[in-house]
Amino acid sequence: MNVLVVGGGGREHAIVEALHRNHADIFAAMANQNPGIRRRSKDVLLGDVTAVERIVSWAKERAVDLAVIGPEAPLEKGITDALEAAGIPTVGPSREAAQLETNKEFTRELMRREEIPGRPQFWAFDNLGGFEEFVNDSDFEFVIKPLGLTGGKGVRVWGDHFSTKAEALAYGREILEKKIGGTSRFLVEEKLVGEEFSLQAFCDGRTLVPMPLAQDHKRAYEGDKGPNTGGMGSYSNADHLLPFLTKQDFVQAFETMTRTIQAMASRGTPFKGILYGGFMATNDGPKLLEFNVRFADPESMNVLPIFEGDFLDLCGRLATGNLPASVKFAPQATVCKYVVPMGYGSRPKAGEQLKVDEESIRRTGAKLFFASVEGKGGHLWLAPEGGGAAQGRRREHPPHRGEALLCERRGEGRASVHDHLAIPRGRGNRGGP
Ligand code: ATP
Repeated sequence: MNVLVVGGGGREHAIVEALHRNHADIFAAMANQNPGIRRRSKDVLLGDVTAVERIVSWAKERAVDLAVIGPEAPLEKGITDALEAAGIPTVGPSREAAQLETNKEFTRELMRREEIPGRPQFWAFDNLGGFEEFVNDSDFEFVIKPLGLTGGKGVRVWGDHFSTKAEALAYGREILEKKIGGTSRFLVEEKLVGEEFSLQAFCDGRTLVPMPLAQDHKRAYEGDKGPNTGGMGSYSNADHLLPFLTKQDFVQAFETMTRTIQAMASRGTPFKGILYGGFMATNDGPKLLEFNVRFADPESMNVLPIFEGDFLDLCGRLATGNLPASVKFAPQATVCKYVVPMGYGSRPKAGEQLKVDEESIRRTGAKLFFASVEGKGGHLWLAPEGGGAAQGRRREHPPHRGEALLCERRGEGRASVHDHLAIPRGRGNRGGP
């Protein structure tokens, strides 16, 4: 079966590996030549992944039977609608349903209207006067969120990114003036306190099927220190829960997602694709931080390698509204570790050569996924910033530059995988305490 995969990061490499296990013929559309995806593909279209018409006509010429969309940017541009209009069933929501990620106010309003559990208090502002009044009257910590996609850089949390009312006002003004997130309007939410976790699920519009829970770590250095990055690594547990969560926490988080899916279907915009909830486990139970409408990065690399069954068949069934009630994942813990150049998270670099002894890594039992790595002239390179003809928004995590990802299954992988990578050292940043 000919399958189009859109996106060229670590997440898409993991998707491609899962499809390849069931002998899919892969046709990849990506901004840079991911060497892991390239070697599994029959053909590759390099360029902007939001160039919807170009990708659809390329897919039609190659008689693609099914499409899987990795990143959110092409979903926001309506790639699913266009592919399906061309007769290609697609794993990914319509532009309208993708609003669960692309419009934060849409999601919060839906949750309020339908009384979906797990919602923090929120307010929306489109003028500075109203926001000023709110800030002056408030006696609690809050979070400021642009409404649209901002490449993971828009949300500012009291205590992390700002710590005075004056700074809050300044950021509110900046969003309104610069239309950060695409519009002169933003959300304010009560600040939630707890442990974050990720719940990904397959959804065919009606049925929602969960994947194992995972937790990622964003700080650059050990001990949760250093700058926030797009992600340094993630893990999942053999029981598919997490050490700090109860079964009841999972049930409640899943209820938030199920009720959302039901609400989307009743408003005539059913959600079909991968729904991924970012939750905070608080003292009052799990609260939704945000929805994403695609696999998580890096948590997709935890769950996809332990998926048991025919992933190609599952994608086909999802895209045609026929998901089974449950799917199986191996009862194994996983650890995903980013291997990054020095300076990652604050001073990303690009264009340098990378040496990876893949065979030695394979012998340790770990799986290797490439993200922001370019294969050119028989060598691997740190992918250039904004490489190719891509739009600035095409990636959700711009700080990821020149990463390889190692996904280890506990008990099989060994720490020695690091001995087999050589990544250039950055200038000026020591990279850890
Ligand atoms: P990303 O693309 O990195 O997932 P995003 O820009 O889509 O981010 P969110 O996921 O909504 O935005 O928020 C980013 C981070 O901000 C969350 O992972 C969480 O750490 C923090 N955050 C968001 N909302 C809240 C909240 N209400 N209370 C506390 N922290 C929050």
